[in-house]
Amino acid sequence: MSAGRRIVIVGAAQAGARCAEALRAEGFAGRIVLVGDEKHLPYERPALSKAVLLGEAAPESTEVHPRAFYDEKSIELRLGVRAEAIATSAQRVLLSDGAWLTYDRLVLCTGSRARPLAGAPDLPGVHTLRTLDDCAALARALAPGARLVVIGGGFIGLEVASSAVKRGLAVAVVERQDSLLERVVPRAVAAQVERLHRLNGVDLHLGRGAQRILGQDRVTGVELQDGSVLPADLVVIGIGIVPNTELGEAAGARSEDGLVVDEYGRTTLANVWAAGDVTSHPNPILGRRVRLESWQNAQNQAIAVARNLVGQERRYAEVPWFWSDQFDANIQMYGLAGPGDAVAWRGDPAGGKAIGFAFAGGRLVFAVGFNMGGELRLARRLIETGAEVDAAALCDPARKLKDIVSAAAASAVAPAA
Ligand code: ADP
Repeated sequence: MSAGRRIVIVGAAQAGARCAEALRAEGFAGRIVLVGDEKHLPYERPALSKAVLLGEAAPESTEVHPRAFYDEKSIELRLGVRAEAIATSAQRVLLSDGAWLTYDRLVLCTGSRARPLAGAPDLPGVHTLRTLDDCAALARALAPGARLVVIGGGFIGLEVASSAVKRGLAVAVVERQDSLLERVVPRAVAAQVERLHRLNGVDLHLGRGAQRILGQDRVTGVELQDGSVLPADLVVIGIGIVPNTELGEAAGARSEDGLVVDEYGRTTLANVWAAGDVTSHPNPILGRRVRLESWQNAQNQAIAVARNLVGQERRYAEVPWFWSDQFDANIQMYGLAGPGDAVAWRGDPAGGKAIGFAFAGGRLVFAVGFNMGGELRLARRLIETGAEVDAAALCDPARKLKDIVSAAAASAVAPAA
């Protein structure tokens, strides 16, 4: 299948930039136009809540490529411009500056946006953290001694809390669920993260959501669902993200918590593909459809789509991988787990270095490491092969993880006689 001569990519962030780069790497010689509504060069977001917010890394360090790269590769950048509509039968995209771009193939890498808190006033001192501009505004506002209330105990909220404590603020986190990180980790893992935050002086309020942000000329506090008030000089709303599906939906693409794509990245519209946060895609390893908000997915699904656009027909199939840095903990995860999943530990999580495992039917489905990045990578293989594995052996520190993984992988892929 030919990719035609003109590929338009909507969304100039990590996924869009990697898709364009991979198209050139795979030899696509036609026109590539990358359209993005932010004025910045495409950048990666993980450092925005960590090193950049702390002032330890420059904002430019997040750029996927320097400007010269796009010139060298003849990738046309249309930055500061929104794609407003897709005319599918004419295969054209309308931009906010009035221009139309004709495509042979269109890739939607429109990502996601910060979920708004219903009724939150637009007051000085109230922030969200999604873009480089959000990060710059919040970094300026993080004054030592100030009282920060973070609304939402997901990874973004907790990373902001950690960075703000390091910058000398007094930090409270409000989470409406009884446990932190409810969307992404089992409660036994969340309990370890909770301990980490309490140890570092974060004032945690669980089981009560924020219902009102208070203040006249600037923010003064946050009212919780039980009526209590936390005084605040600053508030960060970190209550999750919403995928930017509207452009695709308005053109008729199927959308179910994300634009529905197949394992090759094709949407339900002819010649329209999608990658990154915005997609709901089948994961053949997990055996179900997922929408992932991760660096890995933004990068690798976009590369997979580029390869498929040039006719390689390769399924996108990876074990999901996430990481977070909070205080002195590097937390990495492979696979997916639910809040109620039981966790078996290798090592003592209270000691700061441990791996937690969750199983389904004798198979490993999730592994989380606290300061165990190197060893944790071995667990990825087990999830990928779906091999049956002895939980007791995995949790026995006297047994080498490498040996257990090799043995399990060998038994999963029985050699042909
Ligand atoms: P992210 O990965 O962007 O941090 P998550 O969706 O994992 O996002 O986490 C957001 C958290 O915010 C969830 O745990 C959710 O329960 C919490 N939340 C949502 N609304 C409120 C609210 N009004 N008050 C407190 N917490 C909230």
